[in-house]
Amino acid sequence: MKLIFLGAPGSGKGTYATRVAPHLNVPQISTGDLLRENLKNNTEIGKKAKSFMEAGKLVPDELVMELLKQRIKKDDTKNGFILDGFPRTIPQAEQLEKITKIDAVVNLIVPEKIIINRLTSRRVCEKCGAIFNVLSLRPKEDGICDKCGGNLIQRKDDTIEVIRDRLNVYKNQTEPLIEYYKKKGLIIDIINDDPNAKPEEVLPRILERLKKVKTK
Ligand code: AMP
Repeated sequence: MKLIFLGAPGSGKGTYATRVAPHLNVPQISTGDLLRENLKNNTEIGKKAKSFMEAGKLVPDELVMELLKQRIKKDDTKNGFILDGFPRTIPQAEQLEKITKIDAVVNLIVPEKIIINRLTSRRVCEKCGAIFNVLSLRPKEDGICDKCGGNLIQRKDDTIEVIRDRLNVYKNQTEPLIEYYKKKGLIIDIINDDPNAKPEEVLPRILERLKKVKTK
């Protein structure tokens, strides 16, 4: 199955994409993670992407397309994939269409107030990328990843100023994709407006909806 997870920053794309992926036996592919890896390794793409990412702006389409094309060629995508954070613009969606078919788009709907709370309290593992939250999804031991023992850090772009810019970018450049995919009949809306809902409670709702998806 080939899926896209769409939603504002902090709507839970990464949290749910990583949990749904093993159920479908497909990889979760996050362009944000791919870019951060390039930043860490100081690659040419990383150097070009750095200033955009730190300002909460979108990285130019051609850089992201290049990374995505390379990634979806890998063997582990033979059963499909979940794209997390891609596409983020209509031109990206149009280019994606030229290289592969998409079976459904999961649209995570979360009120802005919850998003801001969630992003400012988000922590990620610097080693494996697992996502935690100091308010709602605490690790067993403070500052330590449950999965691999790595250090939990706050992303540079999870500060209130950058969060506001990222939400504006989402509204202006990414939100039009909801209409784009609605017209194609691909959207599955998942409303998640309970700030206390645990991922384990929301996950079955997503899986249930995905059972009805017909793969192309
Ligand atoms: P994320 O981890 O998905 O929140 O992405 C972090 C940052 O990476 C974003 O704020 C953008 O600067 C960049 N980024 C990730 N995915 C894309 C994309 N599809 N198009 C452009 N920029 C992206």
